[in-house]
Amino acid sequence: MRKPDEQVCVIYRGIPASPGVVIGKVFLLNRESIQVAEEKIEENEVAKEILKFKKALNDTKEEVLKIKEKVAKRIDPDHAKIFEAQSMILEDELINNAAVEKIKQSRSNAEFVYKKVIEQTIKTLSSSKDEYLRERIIDIKEVARRLIYNLLGIKHLTLESIDSPVILVAQSLSPGDVVHMKKESILGFATDMGGGTSHVALLAKSMGIPAVVGLKSFFSQIQDKQSIILDGIKGEVIICPDEHTLKEYEKRRRFILQKATELSGLKSLPAETSDGRKIELSANIELPSDTDSAIEYGAEGIGLFRTEYLYIARADFPTEEEQHKAYLEVAEKVYPKSVILRTFDLGGDKFDRHTGNLYETNPFLGWRAIRACLDLPEMFKVQLRAMLKASAKKNVKIMFPMISEVGELQRAKTILNEAKEELRRKKIPFDEEIPVGIMVEIPSAALAGDALAKACDFFSIGTNDLIQYTLAVDRGNEKIAHLYQGFHPAVLRLIKETIDAARRNGIWVGLCGEMAADPQATTLLVGMGVDELSTSAMAIPEIKKIIRSIKFEDAKRHAQEVLKLPTIDDVKKFLIEDYAKRFGKENKSKLM
Ligand code: PEP
Ligand code: MG
Repeated sequence: MRKPDEQVCVIYRGIPASPGVVIGKVFLLNRESIQVAEEKIEENEVAKEILKFKKALNDTKEEVLKIKEKVAKRIDPDHAKIFEAQSMILEDELINNAAVEKIKQSRSNAEFVYKKVIEQTIKTLSSSKDEYLRERIIDIKEVARRLIYNLLGIKHLTLESIDSPVILVAQSLSPGDVVHMKKESILGFATDMGGGTSHVALLAKSMGIPAVVGLKSFFSQIQDKQSIILDGIKGEVIICPDEHTLKEYEKRRRFILQKATELSGLKSLPAETSDGRKIELSANIELPSDTDSAIEYGAEGIGLFRTEYLYIARADFPTEEEQHKAYLEVAEKVYPKSVILRTFDLGGDKFDRHTGNLYETNPFLGWRAIRACLDLPEMFKVQLRAMLKASAKKNVKIMFPMISEVGELQRAKTILNEAKEELRRKKIPFDEEIPVGIMVEIPSAALAGDALAKACDFFSIGTNDLIQYTLAVDRGNEKIAHLYQGFHPAVLRLIKETIDAARRNGIWVGLCGEMAADPQATTLLVGMGVDELSTSAMAIPEIKKIIRSIKFEDAKRHAQEVLKLPTIDDVKKFLIEDYAKRFGKENKSKLM
């Protein structure tokens, strides 16, 4: 019989976000804001309270500077700039003097007073027209939380304070959080919120950190330091696994590693069907440092560099020189293969820590990507010049995200031409014929494929957004994750429309959404006629294996069959059965 305090093994099911199985202890990231009550102090206690406040200021500053050093050493000095900005807030005389004066006047406790002063500061900054000031709001909030925790003597657990290997559990995480994670200390992570193609999930994938998202109420069920198994392939988390389960998962972990080793044998072979149709198989990256692992997994080039991460990972916009350095680093590493540099796609779920008060009711339908860039032409031109400067060896392409119609593309190209002209005047070399393409990720673009294809050099289909905008399903919302269906016949028709428009107009067409990483979609996509598939590096070997085992002529027939099917269930059933026929159920069931 079970003893009263004995814990049982419980399985929680969420959404698989990044593959891999890890076993370890939980680090619970609690970010709930704490309640700070007002406490009155006696006249003779005022000096002591002010001293307490000043000590907490010093302690917090030391803490922030230590984190800054750690991040600079572990990642790079640019990433550490956030903490430089935070330490400056702690030195802000206006804020600190206001707090001291208020302690004296109101004779209230320091934490209550500081919280009030910060709330007032945030209110003032929120209405500022200066974007830089508004952007400081998130830093101010983070610093204030640290300081208040120190005033209250509460141990403050942050991502940066994690030293030993743990599995992180949080209610939600932002892409900015994930970009600072180190694989040595974060074995994997699990969150209550988020969807399978949210940017948090995509980032985890390209960093090789196993993750499960959309676990709904898991956070409230788990305790710090509990043992768990996290299965990023099945999308499961198992609390307090018993010995038998642990053994099973250890076996599964070894099987996955063995499979990866087997697949690594394909690294130097081309992604070519058995009847000779060559598919470019490239990688999506977020930071230049991801390029090495992309090459390691056998990527033929970089099909999507999400350049906005240069900004998300730090406190301010990278300068032209910093951007140029980053783009050139990737271009040089993949040479003579090419890199597609996508201009900033900020907004949606990617603005998080930088938005300040930039509140939008529907951020995914809002001021995102090319829309923001066209409104900020000077910032846009800085990026375009930096990209052009990295193109002298002719292996760089520029891609605009979220294009919805030809006029928008023309406006972006006009600014690109201005950037080119500026470089010509300064006699700075760049590729005069640099290919310019667009992401097709909005249904209107897919339906205007012919007109757009005449105005650019290539398409890259972004299924992550194309699915969410076609089906009106937020890609990051776990509550409606079951409605986010890439195999909806309408989505497949839009993909086919886009590929056909590219073919009719003689331009190249790739696909860089997560559908490119789905083994069950590979035959279909190859059969529909894509020239390239670009995906998180880890998925490349398996996709290559499938491409090498199919015939293009078969894949075309397969695609024709699928495109006739009327419902999501019909498509899924067909794809599952076809996959099992070609590759065997056995092969799949061990992994999925
Ligand atoms: C997409 O939308 O499919 C895409 C690749 O872009 P992102 O995931 O960065 O929005
Ligand atoms: Mg997109």
